[in-house]
Parts: sequence; C-alpha cells; structure tokens
Amino acid sequence: MTASLFPRIITNIAASIASHAEAVTELDQAIGDGDHVYNLQRGIDALQQAAAEIAGMEWPAAWQKIGMLLMSTVGGASGSLYATLFIGLARHGQGQAVDLAHFATAFAAGVAAMKQRGKAEAGEKTMLDVLIPVTDALQAGAAAGEPLPVLLPRLCRIAEAGAEATRDMLATKGRASFLGERSLGHVDAGARTAQLMIQAVADALLAPELA
Ligand code: ADP
Ligand code: MG
Repeated sequence: MTASLFPRIITNIAASIASHAEAVTELDQAIGDGDHVYNLQRGIDALQQAAAEIAGMEWPAAWQKIGMLLMSTVGGASGSLYATLFIGLARHGQGQAVDLAHFATAFAAGVAAMKQRGKAEAGEKTMLDVLIPVTDALQAGAAAGEPLPVLLPRLCRIAEAGAEATRDMLATKGRASFLGERSLGHVDAGARTAQLMIQAVADALLAPELA
C-alpha cells in the first residue's frame, strides 16, 4: 500500500497550521520562545515539496523519508521529536502489511521513541499529553476492529481533551519548564499543534471522496 494519500494529508495539515498560526504563536510566546509555528512550517514546506515523491513510496519508506526531512529542516525540540516519531514508525512498520493494527503498533513504538528521546512522560505539559492518550486509544480501537468513521472522531476528541488538559499542568520539560508556576494557565503550543495535526489527518482520511 503506497502513501498515495500523503499529498492530501500534508495539504490539510499545512492549511490547519496556517489558519491557527497566530493563536498558536500566542501560546508559544506565553511560555516558550514563540518559534514553534515557524519550526513546524519549515518541515511542512519541505514535506509539501516532496509530496509527489512520497506518494509513490510504500508507507514504511515514506515514514523514513518524512522523518529524515523533518530532522534536516525543523529546528527546535519539536523537530527532533517528530523526526524520531516517524523514524520509529518506519523501523517498526518495516516488512509488515500496513493495516490499522500494525499501524497502531508502529505508531506506539514511534511515540515510545519520542518519550525516550525527550526524556518525558505524560503530564509534563508537552505534545506527549496529546500523543500518548491518542496512541493508547488508537491501539485499543484497532484491536477492537473499530471502523475508522467511529475511531477517528473519537481520537480527535481525545486529542482535544489532551491539549486542553495541558493548561493546568506545570511544565517540567522544554523551555516552559524554566517558568515554573508561571507556566500554569496556558495550553502548551506543541500539544495544541499535535491536536490540530491529528484533526487534519482525520479530516483527510474521512473526506467524502474516499468513502
Ligand atoms: P523549542 O522548544 O526548542 O523552541 P518548539 O518551539 O518547536 O521547540 O517546540 C516546543 C514544543 O515542543 C513544546 O510546546 C512541547 O510541546 C514540545 N517539547 C519540548 N520539550 C519536549 C520534551 N522533552 N518532550 C516532549 N515534548 C517536548
Ligand atoms: Mg520554541
């Protein structure tokens, strides 16, 4: 199965990050250094330029290519973390038919690699507070054979709740951790963009033309 949906997915992600750029930058200025959207957009631009090539690849090779492109174009903590996610996905997706259950297992391995790379866990006010609960629900849903039109909207709701929950967390990783108690009361920018990107992927996969 090739990554033929990739151009549609990356177009949706680019549009969502662009339309929320101002709000996310405000979040990142409150408790970070304000460059998170810029960092992500460098990676998104590189992926859009490579979209046609990626579309012709098998998924594991596509994930590896995506990871390498993110590693070389995105600065900041988020760049190396997302690169780690996709390279982990590629490593664990290799040689397997890409059905939902295998994807869920490979994605969980990618998220585990991110946790290791950033030495972070759930509850530290980062993108992991979206990615960990979404991964858990994805694995459970895939194991239960839940159909995508049910599973994807549920994952989006979990992502939203995960991002929102970072508002009341004390940051203990990343730049926001330097602020201590002053990090309270703001949603984490990286959690918010993780949620937006998950929504964008779900929208691409559930687009009516594909049904
Ligand atoms: P930087 O913090 O280096 O400027 P970005 O601004 O691109 O990088 O990304 C910041 C986001 O990265 C944060 O909002 C947070 O979600 C995430 N983040 C930072 N450090 C970690 C970490 N150790 N583990 C997981 N996520 C992290
Ligand atoms: Mg930053």
